[in-house]
Amino acid sequence: MAERKRVLITGGAGFLGSHLCDWFIQNDYDVIAMDNLLTGSLSNIEHLFPNERFHFYNHDVTKFVHVPGTLDYILHFASPASPIDYLKMPIQTLKVGSLGTHNLLGLAREKSARILIASTSEVYGDPLEHPQRESYWGNVNPIGPRGVYDEAKRFQEAITMAYHRYHQVETRIVRIFNTYGPRMRKEDGRALPAFFTQALQGKELTVFGDGSQTRSFCYVDDMIRGIISLLMSNYSDPVNIGNPEEISIKQVAEEILALVNNPEASLSYHDLPVDDPKVRQPDISVAKELLKWTPTISRQEGLKRTYRYFAASE
Ligand code: UDP
Repeated sequence: MAERKRVLITGGAGFLGSHLCDWFIQNDYDVIAMDNLLTGSLSNIEHLFPNERFHFYNHDVTKFVHVPGTLDYILHFASPASPIDYLKMPIQTLKVGSLGTHNLLGLAREKSARILIASTSEVYGDPLEHPQRESYWGNVNPIGPRGVYDEAKRFQEAITMAYHRYHQVETRIVRIFNTYGPRMRKEDGRALPAFFTQALQGKELTVFGDGSQTRSFCYVDDMIRGIISLLMSNYSDPVNIGNPEEISIKQVAEEILALVNNPEASLSYHDLPVDDPKVRQPDISVAKELLKWTPTISRQEGLKRTYRYFAASE
């Protein structure tokens, strides 16, 4: 019988990391989840603890990372990832994207493992090209409040390509666009968890600016499928994964208001955060062509599933 494959998932107790742990456990891998629980939560993975193929290491990947035994794949998903989180933890955000990535690339080299790095649409900044193709270099303010995340992720891409080119490490880079679904943290300040929580509690949904800024929201199951296809492909340049259906923040707030249908909830308008991108929409032609991947879960269906999660956790 062939040896079971082993995978390390950093940020394994986070939103996307924990869904990745589920996928690999369901597909018969040995899984090591690593997390320092800065923004991750054990409640996202506690259902996996009884499984003997699942292991959890409480470790900060900005410190030297040691994993005994072989590794086939590494997925680096450790990082604060919401604007509120990285504004609160700017230094940790910079360190995990830079020092953490360096440690994991070193580990990948040592173990001859393939490594997939979680990058972000934030590398495009407040984009002047719309929709954003992978070839776009971005419009990022390096010294603004979002710079700590955006520049850490840009450095992460640069060092990953360097390890690929100079050390022949097998690398993959996914540029993740806004993703939503169960296990998003209520208090992470992102638009969707904020709106669901506020609507359920009969409060005002806090729309920033006039709500005309746009985002394109991808349901988590589609995102995980895209990430896995990229990992299993032989393509080492960055690939956008996201749902190209673009919507204004005001409209998504209204959709959530209608779905939750709490007569006490309403919309309120607040200052727009500094450097908040005005538009964001992935061009996913590369993913479609290369991976035969396309999102399949409509916003209506995805919002319904997400609503059930937040309603159950109220
Ligand atoms: N936003 C909002 N109200 C909130 C939280 C966010 O209107 O309570 C806006 C935010 O200004 C941005 C968009 O929603 O324009 C998406 O924000 P999010 O934090 O989800 O992610 P981003 O795409 O900015 O990283």
